[in-house]
Amino acid sequence: MSTSVHEFDTRGLDQCPFMPVFGAPAVMFERGRGTELWDVDGKRYLDFLAGIAVVSLGHAHPAVADAIARQAGQLLHVSNFFANPVATAAAIGINDLLADATGEAGQVFFTNSGAEANECALKLARKFGGRGRHVVVSAFGSFHGRTLATLAATGQPSKHEPFQPMPDGFRHVAWGDLDALTAAVDPTVAAVLIEPVQGEGGVHPAPEGYLAGIRRRCDEVGALLMVDEIQTGLGRTGRWFGFEHAGVVPDVVTLAKALGNGMPVGACWARRDVAGVFQPGDHGSTYSGTAIATAAVNAVLAELRRLDAPALATARGQHLRDALTAVPGVAGVRGLGLLLAVELDGHDAPTVYRALLDRGLITNAVGPTALRLAPPLTVTTAEIDEAAALIAAVLGEAAA
Ligand SMILES: *Cc1c(COP(=O)(O)O)cnc(C)c1O
Repeated sequence: MSTSVHEFDTRGLDQCPFMPVFGAPAVMFERGRGTELWDVDGKRYLDFLAGIAVVSLGHAHPAVADAIARQAGQLLHVSNFFANPVATAAAIGINDLLADATGEAGQVFFTNSGAEANECALKLARKFGGRGRHVVVSAFGSFHGRTLATLAATGQPSKHEPFQPMPDGFRHVAWGDLDALTAAVDPTVAAVLIEPVQGEGGVHPAPEGYLAGIRRRCDEVGALLMVDEIQTGLGRTGRWFGFEHAGVVPDVVTLAKALGNGMPVGACWARRDVAGVFQPGDHGSTYSGTAIATAAVNAVLAELRRLDAPALATARGQHLRDALTAVPGVAGVRGLGLLLAVELDGHDAPTVYRALLDRGLITNAVGPTALRLAPPLTVTTAEIDEAAALIAAVLGEAAA
Protein backbone atom coordinates (compact mmCIF):
# COMPACT_ATOMS: atom_id res chain seq x y z
CA MET A 1 0.00 0.00 0.00
CA SER A 2 1.48 3.33 -0.96
CA THR A 3 1.37 6.33 1.32
CA SER A 4 1.23 9.85 -0.03
CA VAL A 5 3.53 12.36 1.61
CA HIS A 6 0.45 14.33 2.64
CA GLU A 7 -0.91 11.35 4.57
CA PHE A 8 2.48 10.69 6.14
CA ASP A 9 2.64 14.31 7.26
CA THR A 10 -0.43 13.91 9.43
CA ARG A 11 0.42 10.47 10.84
CA GLY A 12 1.85 9.82 14.25
CA LEU A 13 5.45 8.73 14.84
CA ASP A 14 4.29 5.12 15.26
CA GLN A 15 3.45 5.01 11.51
CA CYS A 16 6.59 6.85 10.47
CA PRO A 17 8.84 4.95 8.01
CA PHE A 18 11.98 6.41 9.63
CA MET A 19 13.75 5.31 12.82
CA PRO A 20 12.53 7.57 15.60
CA VAL A 21 15.80 9.43 16.21
CA PHE A 22 14.80 12.88 14.94
CA GLY A 23 11.46 13.47 16.67
CA ALA A 24 8.31 14.43 14.81
CA PRO A 25 9.13 16.36 11.61
CA ALA A 26 7.65 19.86 11.78
CA VAL A 27 7.10 20.50 8.07
CA MET A 28 7.30 18.54 4.80
CA PHE A 29 9.30 20.53 2.25
CA GLU A 30 9.05 20.07 -1.48
CA ARG A 31 11.28 22.64 -3.17
CA GLY A 32 13.56 25.58 -2.59
CA ARG A 33 15.29 28.46 -4.32
CA GLY A 34 17.90 30.67 -2.71
CA THR A 35 16.81 31.44 0.86
CA GLU A 36 13.21 30.39 0.17
CA LEU A 37 11.53 27.01 0.71
CA TRP A 38 8.02 25.82 -0.09
CA ASP A 39 6.22 23.04 1.75
CA VAL A 40 3.95 20.42 0.17
CA ASP A 41 0.95 22.77 0.60
CA GLY A 42 2.73 25.61 -1.23
CA LYS A 43 3.41 27.72 1.86
CA ARG A 44 6.58 29.84 1.58
CA TYR A 45 9.31 29.93 4.24
CA LEU A 46 12.53 31.90 4.68
CA ASP A 47 15.29 29.44 5.53
CA PHE A 48 17.55 31.00 8.17
CA LEU A 49 19.08 27.64 9.07
CA ALA A 50 20.16 26.50 5.55
CA GLY A 51 19.93 22.82 6.45
CA ILE A 52 22.22 23.52 9.45
CA ALA A 53 24.81 25.68 7.69
CA VAL A 54 24.91 23.34 4.68
CA VAL A 55 23.22 25.27 1.87
CA SER A 56 25.60 28.24 1.87
CA LEU A 57 24.85 29.06 -1.76
CA GLY A 58 21.10 28.79 -1.26
CA HIS A 59 18.70 26.06 -2.34
CA ALA A 60 18.73 24.71 -5.90
CA HIS A 61 21.76 26.76 -6.88
CA PRO A 62 21.86 26.58 -10.72
CA ALA A 63 25.65 26.08 -11.04
CA VAL A 64 25.63 23.25 -8.49
CA ALA A 65 22.50 21.67 -9.97
CA ASP A 66 24.04 21.81 -13.47
CA ALA A 67 27.32 20.29 -12.31
CA ILE A 68 25.51 17.40 -10.60
CA ALA A 69 23.18 16.81 -13.57
CA ARG A 70 26.01 16.91 -16.12
CA GLN A 71 28.16 14.56 -14.03
CA ALA A 72 25.25 12.16 -13.53
CA GLY A 73 25.01 11.82 -17.30
CA GLN A 74 28.75 11.20 -17.68
CA LEU A 75 30.23 9.20 -14.78
CA LEU A 76 29.06 8.65 -11.20
CA HIS A 77 31.62 6.33 -9.71
CA VAL A 78 34.65 4.18 -10.56
CA SER A 79 36.09 3.05 -7.14
CA ASN A 80 39.41 4.04 -5.65
CA PHE A 81 41.32 1.50 -7.72
CA PHE A 82 41.12 4.25 -10.33
CA ALA A 83 41.29 8.02 -10.49
CA ASN A 84 38.82 10.48 -11.90
CA PRO A 85 39.59 14.06 -12.92
CA VAL A 86 36.61 15.45 -10.96
CA ALA A 87 37.81 14.32 -7.53
CA THR A 88 41.38 15.30 -8.39
CA ALA A 89 40.26 18.85 -9.19
CA ALA A 90 38.23 18.99 -5.96
CA ALA A 91 41.18 17.84 -3.84
CA ILE A 92 43.40 20.45 -5.51
CA GLY A 93 40.72 23.08 -4.83
CA ILE A 94 40.67 22.25 -1.10
CA ASN A 95 44.46 22.06 -0.93
CA ASP A 96 44.67 25.50 -2.57
CA LEU A 97 42.25 27.10 -0.09
CA LEU A 98 44.06 25.55 2.88
CA ALA A 99 47.49 26.39 1.47
CA ASP A 100 46.39 30.04 1.34
CA ALA A 101 45.07 29.86 4.92
CA THR A 102 47.95 27.88 6.47
CA GLY A 103 50.97 28.33 4.21
CA GLU A 104 51.23 24.51 4.22
CA ALA A 105 50.94 21.95 1.45
CA GLY A 106 48.49 19.23 2.33
CA GLN A 107 46.52 16.21 1.20
CA VAL A 108 42.82 15.37 1.26
CA PHE A 109 40.67 12.31 2.01
CA PHE A 110 37.05 12.63 0.82
CA THR A 111 34.17 11.27 2.90
CA ASN A 112 30.37 11.22 2.73
CA SER A 113 29.77 13.16 5.95
CA GLY A 114 31.27 15.28 8.68
CA ALA A 115 31.48 12.42 11.15
CA GLU A 116 33.49 10.39 8.64
CA ALA A 117 35.85 13.33 8.07
CA ASN A 118 36.47 13.38 11.83
CA GLU A 119 36.85 9.57 11.89
CA CYS A 120 39.64 9.98 9.35
CA ALA A 121 41.24 12.66 11.55
CA LEU A 122 40.99 10.45 14.66
CA LYS A 123 42.61 7.49 12.89
CA LEU A 124 45.30 9.78 11.51
CA ALA A 125 45.99 11.05 15.04
CA ARG A 126 46.35 7.49 16.37
CA LYS A 127 48.69 6.46 13.55
CA PHE A 128 50.68 9.67 14.00
CA GLY A 129 50.94 9.31 17.79
CA GLY A 130 51.73 5.61 17.83
CA ARG A 131 51.23 3.20 20.74
CA GLY A 132 51.13 4.89 24.13
CA ARG A 133 50.17 8.22 22.57
CA HIS A 134 46.63 7.84 21.32
CA VAL A 135 44.48 10.12 23.50
CA VAL A 136 42.40 12.82 21.78
CA VAL A 137 41.41 15.84 23.86
CA SER A 138 38.27 17.81 23.01
CA ALA A 139 36.01 20.30 24.78
CA PHE A 140 32.82 19.90 26.75
CA GLY A 141 29.91 21.27 24.73
CA SER A 142 31.59 20.25 21.48
CA PHE A 143 29.96 18.31 18.65
CA HIS A 144 32.05 16.08 16.38
CA GLY A 145 29.55 13.53 15.03
CA ARG A 146 27.42 10.48 15.81
CA THR A 147 29.62 7.51 14.94
CA LEU A 148 30.99 5.77 18.05
CA ALA A 149 34.43 7.38 17.91
CA THR A 150 33.21 10.87 16.98
CA LEU A 151 30.50 10.55 19.64
CA ALA A 152 33.25 9.71 22.14
CA ALA A 153 35.07 12.88 21.04
CA THR A 154 31.83 14.88 21.36
CA GLY A 155 31.87 16.56 24.78
CA GLN A 156 28.25 15.88 25.70
CA PRO A 157 28.07 13.11 28.35
CA SER A 158 24.28 12.82 28.05
CA LYS A 159 24.70 11.70 24.42
CA HIS A 160 27.22 9.03 25.53
CA GLU A 161 25.06 7.58 28.27
CA PRO A 162 22.77 5.25 26.24
CA PHE A 163 25.77 3.80 24.36
CA GLN A 164 28.27 3.11 27.12
CA PRO A 165 30.96 1.93 27.13
CA MET A 166 32.42 4.54 24.78
CA PRO A 167 35.61 3.76 22.82
CA ASP A 168 38.48 4.75 25.10
CA GLY A 169 41.20 7.31 24.50
CA PHE A 170 39.04 10.43 24.69
CA ARG A 171 39.41 13.21 27.27
CA HIS A 172 37.27 16.32 27.70
CA VAL A 173 38.08 19.72 29.15
CA ALA A 174 36.02 22.83 29.93
CA TRP A 175 35.52 24.93 26.76
CA GLY A 176 37.64 28.05 26.71
CA ASP A 177 39.73 27.13 29.78
CA LEU A 178 43.32 27.09 28.53
CA ASP A 179 44.77 26.01 31.90
CA ALA A 180 42.51 22.95 31.97
CA LEU A 181 43.47 22.07 28.41
CA THR A 182 47.18 22.55 29.07
CA ALA A 183 46.95 20.18 32.06
CA ALA A 184 45.03 17.59 30.02
CA VAL A 185 47.49 17.59 27.11
CA ASP A 186 50.17 15.26 28.48
CA PRO A 187 52.58 13.01 26.54
CA THR A 188 49.83 10.37 26.03
CA VAL A 189 47.91 12.87 23.87
CA ALA A 190 48.08 12.44 20.09
CA ALA A 191 45.82 15.36 19.19
CA VAL A 192 43.45 18.09 20.27
CA LEU A 193 40.21 18.24 18.26
CA ILE A 194 38.47 21.62 18.55
CA GLU A 195 35.79 23.76 16.85
CA PRO A 196 36.67 27.44 16.23
CA VAL A 197 33.03 28.23 17.12
CA GLN A 198 31.03 25.61 19.00
CA GLY A 199 28.04 25.30 16.67
CA GLU A 200 25.70 22.63 18.06
CA GLY A 201 26.86 23.62 21.55
CA GLY A 202 25.12 26.99 21.22
CA VAL A 203 27.23 29.13 18.84
CA HIS A 204 30.08 30.00 21.20
CA PRO A 205 33.18 31.45 19.49
CA ALA A 206 36.54 30.42 20.95
CA PRO A 207 37.66 33.07 23.43
CA GLU A 208 40.57 35.36 22.50
CA GLY A 209 43.88 33.52 22.68
CA TYR A 210 42.34 30.06 23.19
CA LEU A 211 43.31 28.47 19.85
CA ALA A 212 46.75 30.08 19.94
CA GLY A 213 47.28 28.67 23.45
CA ILE A 214 46.19 25.21 22.26
CA ARG A 215 48.63 25.45 19.35
CA ARG A 216 51.46 26.31 21.79
CA ARG A 217 50.64 23.40 24.08
CA CYS A 218 50.36 20.96 21.16
CA ASP A 219 53.80 22.06 19.98
CA GLU A 220 55.27 21.56 23.49
CA VAL A 221 54.18 17.90 23.65
CA GLY A 222 54.25 17.08 19.90
CA ALA A 223 50.48 16.65 19.58
CA LEU A 224 48.43 17.55 16.51
CA LEU A 225 46.03 20.49 16.42
CA MET A 226 42.96 19.24 14.54
CA VAL A 227 40.31 21.86 13.79
CA ASP A 228 36.73 20.75 13.14
CA GLU A 229 35.59 23.25 10.47
CA ILE A 230 32.58 21.18 9.45
CA GLN A 231 30.15 23.96 10.43
CA THR A 232 32.50 26.99 10.40
CA GLY A 233 34.47 26.33 7.20
CA LEU A 234 34.23 27.74 3.68
CA GLY A 235 33.45 31.36 4.45
CA ARG A 236 30.58 31.15 6.92
CA THR A 237 32.35 32.96 9.77
CA GLY A 238 33.70 35.76 7.57
CA ARG A 239 37.03 34.03 6.86
CA TRP A 240 37.53 30.96 4.69
CA PHE A 241 38.17 28.99 7.87
CA GLY A 242 37.28 29.73 11.48
CA PHE A 243 40.85 29.16 12.68
CA GLU A 244 41.99 32.17 10.65
CA HIS A 245 40.28 34.48 13.18
CA ALA A 246 42.78 33.17 15.76
CA GLY A 247 45.81 33.41 13.48
CA VAL A 248 46.82 29.78 14.13
CA VAL A 249 47.94 27.09 11.70
CA PRO A 250 46.34 23.68 12.36
CA ASP A 251 47.79 20.32 11.30
CA VAL A 252 44.47 18.74 10.36
CA VAL A 253 41.21 20.37 9.18
CA THR A 254 37.86 18.64 8.67
CA LEU A 255 35.13 19.93 6.34
CA ALA A 256 31.65 18.84 5.30
CA LYS A 257 28.32 20.73 5.49
CA ALA A 258 28.87 23.65 3.03
CA LEU A 259 31.31 21.61 0.91
CA GLY A 260 28.54 20.06 -1.20
CA ASN A 261 25.78 22.66 -0.71
CA GLY A 262 23.53 19.69 0.12
CA MET A 263 25.35 16.93 -1.75
CA PRO A 264 26.58 14.60 1.03
CA VAL A 265 30.35 15.04 1.05
CA GLY A 266 33.10 15.76 3.57
CA ALA A 267 36.86 16.01 3.59
CA CYS A 268 39.75 15.55 5.96
CA TRP A 269 42.80 17.67 5.10
CA ALA A 270 46.19 17.20 6.72
CA ARG A 271 49.58 18.82 6.36
CA ARG A 272 51.57 16.70 3.93
CA ASP A 273 53.96 15.19 6.51
CA VAL A 274 51.02 14.31 8.79
CA ALA A 275 48.95 12.82 5.94
CA GLY A 276 52.04 10.82 5.00
CA VAL A 277 51.77 8.60 8.09
CA PHE A 278 48.85 6.83 6.33
CA GLN A 279 49.95 3.94 4.12
CA PRO A 280 47.86 2.16 1.46
CA GLY A 281 45.18 0.14 3.27
CA ASP A 282 45.18 2.22 6.47
CA HIS A 283 41.91 3.93 5.61
CA GLY A 284 39.30 3.97 2.88
CA SER A 285 35.69 4.31 1.84
CA THR A 286 33.87 3.02 -1.22
CA TYR A 287 32.56 6.49 -1.98
CA SER A 288 35.68 8.49 -1.16
CA GLY A 289 36.12 10.98 -3.98
CA THR A 290 33.21 9.68 -6.01
CA ALA A 291 32.74 11.74 -9.18
CA ILE A 292 29.14 12.78 -8.50
CA ALA A 293 29.88 14.23 -5.05
CA THR A 294 33.10 15.94 -6.07
CA ALA A 295 31.40 17.47 -9.12
CA ALA A 296 29.27 19.34 -6.59
CA VAL A 297 32.40 20.28 -4.59
CA ASN A 298 34.05 21.80 -7.67
CA ALA A 299 30.96 23.87 -8.48
CA VAL A 300 30.60 24.95 -4.83
CA LEU A 301 34.24 26.01 -4.44
CA ALA A 302 34.19 27.94 -7.75
CA GLU A 303 30.99 29.75 -6.79
CA LEU A 304 32.12 30.50 -3.21
CA ARG A 305 35.34 31.99 -4.63
CA ARG A 306 33.49 33.96 -7.31
CA LEU A 307 31.15 35.48 -4.71
CA ASP A 308 33.98 36.03 -2.19
CA ALA A 309 32.10 34.00 0.42
CA PRO A 310 33.99 35.36 3.45
CA ALA A 311 33.26 38.98 2.47
CA LEU A 312 29.62 38.13 1.83
CA ALA A 313 29.29 36.45 5.25
CA THR A 314 30.93 39.44 6.94
CA ALA A 315 28.68 42.04 5.25
CA ARG A 316 25.38 40.14 5.50
CA GLY A 317 26.30 38.94 9.00
CA GLN A 318 26.78 42.52 10.15
CA HIS A 319 23.43 43.51 8.63
CA LEU A 320 21.70 40.59 10.38
CA ARG A 321 23.44 41.33 13.68
CA ASP A 322 22.42 45.02 13.54
CA ALA A 323 18.83 44.16 12.62
CA LEU A 324 18.51 41.65 15.47
CA THR A 325 20.17 43.84 18.08
CA ALA A 326 17.44 46.44 17.46
CA VAL A 327 14.63 43.93 18.20
CA PRO A 328 12.96 44.32 21.64
CA GLY A 329 13.23 40.98 23.49
CA VAL A 330 16.67 40.20 22.08
CA ALA A 331 19.20 40.27 24.91
CA GLY A 332 22.24 39.79 22.71
CA VAL A 333 23.67 38.38 19.50
CA ARG A 334 26.80 36.21 19.43
CA GLY A 335 28.77 34.36 16.79
CA LEU A 336 30.83 35.24 13.72
CA GLY A 337 29.80 36.20 10.20
CA LEU A 338 26.59 34.36 9.34
CA LEU A 339 26.86 31.80 12.14
CA LEU A 340 24.91 33.63 14.83
CA ALA A 341 22.81 32.96 17.91
CA VAL A 342 20.22 35.32 19.35
CA GLU A 343 20.02 35.22 23.13
CA LEU A 344 16.38 35.88 24.02
CA ASP A 345 15.40 38.04 26.96
CA GLY A 346 13.42 35.58 29.10
CA HIS A 347 11.67 33.86 26.16
CA ASP A 348 11.60 30.07 25.73
CA ALA A 349 13.56 29.36 22.54
CA PRO A 350 11.64 26.20 21.47
CA THR A 351 8.33 28.13 21.78
CA VAL A 352 9.69 31.06 19.76
CA TYR A 353 11.13 28.66 17.17
CA ARG A 354 7.67 27.10 16.72
CA ALA A 355 5.91 30.48 16.44
CA LEU A 356 8.47 31.64 13.85
CA LEU A 357 8.01 28.45 11.87
CA ASP A 358 4.23 29.04 11.81
CA ARG A 359 4.93 32.48 10.35
CA GLY A 360 7.31 31.04 7.76
CA LEU A 361 10.77 31.62 9.25
CA ILE A 362 13.10 28.67 9.86
CA THR A 363 15.51 29.02 12.77
CA ASN A 364 16.80 26.51 15.33
CA ALA A 365 16.58 26.50 19.13
CA VAL A 366 20.18 25.85 20.05
CA GLY A 367 19.67 26.27 23.79
CA PRO A 368 16.80 26.92 26.21
CA THR A 369 16.87 30.67 25.45
CA ALA A 370 18.94 30.89 22.24
CA LEU A 371 18.06 30.63 18.53
CA ARG A 372 20.70 29.78 15.94
CA LEU A 373 20.63 31.71 12.64
CA ALA A 374 22.74 30.45 9.74
CA PRO A 375 21.05 31.54 6.48
CA PRO A 376 22.64 31.00 3.06
CA LEU A 377 25.57 33.40 2.54
CA THR A 378 23.59 34.62 -0.47
CA VAL A 379 20.73 35.87 1.73
CA THR A 380 19.60 39.34 0.60
CA THR A 381 19.36 42.34 2.91
CA ALA A 382 15.61 42.43 2.15
CA GLU A 383 15.30 38.83 3.38
CA ILE A 384 17.28 39.72 6.50
CA ASP A 385 14.94 42.64 7.21
CA GLU A 386 11.93 40.39 6.62
CA ALA A 387 13.31 37.79 9.08
CA ALA A 388 14.09 40.44 11.71
CA ALA A 389 10.53 41.80 11.38
CA LEU A 390 9.10 38.30 11.91
CA ILE A 391 11.26 37.81 15.01
CA ALA A 392 10.16 41.23 16.32
CA ALA A 393 6.50 40.34 15.71
CA VAL A 394 6.76 36.97 17.50
CA LEU A 395 8.69 38.35 20.48
CA GLY A 396 6.30 41.31 20.68
CA GLU A 397 3.31 38.95 20.74
CA ALA A 398 4.95 36.75 23.37
CA ALA A 399 5.67 39.76 25.57
CA ALA A 400 2.08 41.06 25.28
C1 LIG B 1 27.49 18.71 11.72
C2 LIG B 1 28.78 18.56 12.42
C3 LIG B 1 29.49 17.34 12.47
C4 LIG B 1 28.89 16.06 11.95
O1 LIG B 1 28.66 16.08 10.58
P1 LIG B 1 27.68 14.96 9.93
O2 LIG B 1 27.72 15.25 8.46
O3 LIG B 1 26.35 15.16 10.55
O4 LIG B 1 28.25 13.63 10.28
C5 LIG B 1 30.72 17.32 13.08
N1 LIG B 1 31.27 18.44 13.60
C6 LIG B 1 30.64 19.62 13.57
C7 LIG B 1 31.31 20.83 14.14
C8 LIG B 1 29.37 19.73 12.99
O5 LIG B 1 28.74 20.90 12.99
